[in-house]
Amino acid sequence: MRKIEHIGIAVKSIKNSNLVFEKLFGKPHYKIEEVASENVNTSFYKMGQSKIELLEATDPESPIAKFIEKRGEGIHHIAFDVKDIHAEMKRLEDEGFRLINEKPKQGADNKLVCFLHPKSTNGILIELCQEINDD
Ligand code: ZN
Repeated sequence: MRKIEHIGIAVKSIKNSNLVFEKLFGKPHYKIEEVASENVNTSFYKMGQSKIELLEATDPESPIAKFIEKRGEGIHHIAFDVKDIHAEMKRLEDEGFRLINEKPKQGADNKLVCFLHPKSTNGILIELCQEINDD
């Protein structure tokens, strides 16, 4: 793993939260993107080498809606940048970590992603992401 790619924060409303985070960071978000595969809308802020990702559910069945229902708004996951997501998934699986998806999925912001189950990582939902076209 090379760096913290982003930290994902579950919010009830991207629109309202953008107002808060734009004030907090002193700059606007640089993109809003819907990720249909996860039923979420996302909004991104650049923070040096890393990013903050706000996540809003677009459907009551979305994992974000369920997370907020159970735990309220707040930090949802930490994403790490990896060079080769297939190799890293294999390495972590061999180390005994539980992968939530068996194959990388198309994530937001031009990434292939895979999540690790929080039960195998001390309660932290971890996302691996590999930039598509990163060589
Ligand atoms: Zn993420």
